[in-house]
Amino acid sequence: MTVVQKYGGTSVGSVERLRNVARRVAARAEGEQLAVVVSAMGKSTDDLLALAREVNPRPPRRETDLLMATGEMVSSALLTMALIDIGCPAVALTGAQAGVFTDETFGRARIRNIDTWRMHEEFSAGNVVVVAGFQGQSPQGDYATLGRGGSDTSAVALGAALEADQVEIYTDVQGIYTTDPRIEPKARCLKDIASEEMLEAAQQGAGVMHPRAVELGLLYEIPILVASSQAEFGSGGGTLIRKEVQMEPENRVRTIALDRDVSSVTLRHVPDRPGIASQIFGPLADAGISVDTIVQNASELQLTDLTFTVTGDDWERTREISRPLAAELGAADVLFAHDLVKVSLIGTGMQSGPGYAATMFRSLSDAGINIELITTSEIRITCLVRAERGEEAVRVLHAAFALDEEV
Ligand code: ASP
Ligand code: MG
Repeated sequence: MTVVQKYGGTSVGSVERLRNVARRVAARAEGEQLAVVVSAMGKSTDDLLALAREVNPRPPRRETDLLMATGEMVSSALLTMALIDIGCPAVALTGAQAGVFTDETFGRARIRNIDTWRMHEEFSAGNVVVVAGFQGQSPQGDYATLGRGGSDTSAVALGAALEADQVEIYTDVQGIYTTDPRIEPKARCLKDIASEEMLEAAQQGAGVMHPRAVELGLLYEIPILVASSQAEFGSGGGTLIRKEVQMEPENRVRTIALDRDVSSVTLRHVPDRPGIASQIFGPLADAGISVDTIVQNASELQLTDLTFTVTGDDWERTREISRPLAAELGAADVLFAHDLVKVSLIGTGMQSGPGYAATMFRSLSDAGINIELITTSEIRITCLVRAERGEEAVRVLHAAFALDEEV
């Protein structure tokens, strides 16, 4: 059996924790081909970024990646030393040494391919392979990082390349919950969740796993176990993300996600003529900004209001681009809002059952929570609400759909 394990920053955040991880890895390595992907220790990526900004408020992207990549090298080297110390043969590899090749978009590079020969060589020599997550080698041979939280993506991509039987993501929570238990203490840890549901949840702010990692798992059909790095291995804990769960789930809402990373832009009184949308979204796309929700109101006197949302990362640049654009297009004004959140119901079963949206809207309205925007996909209904009511909205919906009850 080939297994890829990934340990997040908290799980390798101190010497003691590293030793604990080493013991788990050594136990799991018996008779298996095991690759272990690590994040940087604790908050060290943030610390490196802060350092970079101290010496240069707009640090160059190439060197930022070089700097950030060191965080994962530190933890992979230290974990390997801890493994060898307890008699478990292991070798540490950088992303490049493990054969991870990316494109050249520093800061959010995408993996192009993984050449597994070195890892296979190490497996044959009886080694556990410890790989620095979050990084790869660009076509020019530079260090490129995969975007914040990218070690999950490294792990699943390695799983795909190694044709692993399972990828195991070890983290500081028990698994995937019906909603964030810090918001709703009655939230339950799910035994399993369909990959599609998990992908929506990850995209809608359920912070446990990086969306790109879930997407890869879905694409390559690799089961992913998300579990606590503290729990006893094989204790049956954790959540298995896999192709399909039950054929006919009883409770069709699986999970409720809250995304706090939402900023909106509203162009007011834009002339309503063909091509307007492309004139607005073209320049944003060219700047690499992905626009999420877009809502255009029915026009009145040939004028329309257009609202769209972006994530915090893109917020500054979106403002820089949309201000002059609004003027150019003849919009009356442009409004920016930072105080919105997205509350999403997610479940594959929702598509076949009517009434989910109605129940959602009624529950929110009964609680006096105003809905600013609504968007849907086949397996998701999302409402944007004011940030200060976001957590309450989650609790209201968790109760309305009885997610605290075992089905
Ligand atoms: N160390 C990187 C970060 O903090 C990657 C990761 O942890 O997955 O974003
Ligand atoms: Mg992480």
